[in-house]
Amino acid sequence: MPRRIVVVGGGAAGMSAASAARRTDPEADITVLESGPFPSYGVCGLPYYLSGVVESAESLVAYPASEFRDRRRIDLRLEAPVESIDLAGGVVVETGGDRHRYDALVVALGAAPIVPPIPGADDPRVVVVRRLEDAIELRSRLDGVSSAAIVGAGYVGLEMAESLHARGIDVTVVDRLPRVMTTVDPVVADLVEAEVRRHCRLLLDAALESIEPAGSGGVAAPGLRLTCGEQTLDVDLAVLALGVRPSTALVPSLQALPNGALLVDERMRTSDPRVFAAGDCIAVHHRVLDGPAYVPLGPAANKTGRTAGTVAAGGDARFGGVVGTAVVKVFDLTVAHTGLTLEEARGRGMPAEATDVTAKSRAKYYPGAEPILVRLVHEPGGRLLGAQMAGRDGVAQRIDVIATALQARMGVGDLLGLDLAYAPPYSPVYDPLIQAAQAVRVKERA
Ligand SMILES: Cc1cc2nc3c(=O)[nH]c(=O)nc-3n(C[C@H](O)[C@H](O)[C@H](O)COP(=O)(O)OP(=O)(O)OC[C@H]3O[C@@H](n4cnc5c(N)ncnc54)[C@H](O)[C@@H]3O)c2cc1C
Repeated sequence: MPRRIVVVGGGAAGMSAASAARRTDPEADITVLESGPFPSYGVCGLPYYLSGVVESAESLVAYPASEFRDRRRIDLRLEAPVESIDLAGGVVVETGGDRHRYDALVVALGAAPIVPPIPGADDPRVVVVRRLEDAIELRSRLDGVSSAAIVGAGYVGLEMAESLHARGIDVTVVDRLPRVMTTVDPVVADLVEAEVRRHCRLLLDAALESIEPAGSGGVAAPGLRLTCGEQTLDVDLAVLALGVRPSTALVPSLQALPNGALLVDERMRTSDPRVFAAGDCIAVHHRVLDGPAYVPLGPAANKTGRTAGTVAAGGDARFGGVVGTAVVKVFDLTVAHTGLTLEEARGRGMPAEATDVTAKSRAKYYPGAEPILVRLVHEPGGRLLGAQMAGRDGVAQRIDVIATALQARMGVGDLLGLDLAYAPPYSPVYDPLIQAAQAVRVKERA
């Protein structure tokens, strides 16, 4: 009897799992149940599709369904939402009643945007950006939108602010906290805040409390009125970007973090021996913390999916974890981080310090040289814990150097000896990373 593998969720993690399972076991029966109309697509590209930088929605779809069905012989079922999972019986039940028995199950249900239980959040002009079908519908409506509120100043909210601003929409970003982007320390967030303010209105310390039709005060107007703390805001559209929650309600008995992210081992095995999990619905091993953490990002979704599918099909694969690396474009600024922030490290009781350096991205005489803020987070003995960077040039490749150093457990002293590439259009002769490591050394000698 061929092995029966069922994958629930056909996003990056689910389709990676199904494809890896096929490569591992050419004979297996593999079924993917996906609630939406598209298999795996570039969710990360949605803001750029909305802005128009990416012209067509189809270009975000990695492969057509026929590639999975015909070439990879995967029974890919679209618009097939899963209603329940009977872990004891080994059966997945689709809405509508179709039942799928499994020998191995891969849970790849992703994460769902957080929508606060406030009045008005269900208005059709209040949207979240998570699914391609919603983005297609939203883009078709944007010509009639002249003002928008983005609620949530995390990376998705800021990408959406840029995206709508690029369409000529008057954008206001709102956050309940006194700062933007809590994934970086305040000194870096301040640069991000300044960049956002160059293009949009920004309301901080302004928690969203209610949303109502703007005409409710007696004035006929087709928009929305948002009450955010003491302020009100009249807009045509509100985008909620308040973070995500792992979609694991269908498997409540599996071991999970308090937020619902499933706990897995390095082979993506859950607490049920027949069940594997991958992507935004799991907690990954964080190499710097040496424990599980919820870091829902694209590269890990693909890699954990591949691992889960390989192991579910009888092969061997492991996913060693993440160091928490991310990069985001906020208008003309690139912001990146890896490892722990100073706030996170100190919050965990680590004796962490931070050293900041602002250096040029290229030789100072070369056109296009821009300042980069580099913050290294480290312990007094030189243990490297993380880094953050912000600048208009040369940020993305430099964060990857620190990410590699963290994974290799290099210390700040090791950064000093790195043989990094140099030519005037790309770097000063002492790279900003080396300058930051030198600053740590000077500080420690003082
Ligand atoms: C706007 C935006 C921008 C992003 N940008 C970046 C970026 O620049 N870099 C980065 O690293 N990460 C980025 N991410 C995060 C990245 O997109 C996710 O980490 C990745 O998509 C997770 O893949 P996944 O397969 O786990 O989840 P998903 O892609 O969410 O796939 C889960 C699938 O499960 C399906 N599903 C859910 N419930 C059911 C059910 N009951 N039955 C059947 N199917 C179901 C869903 O329809 C979905 O297709 C971004 C996310 C967003 C929203």
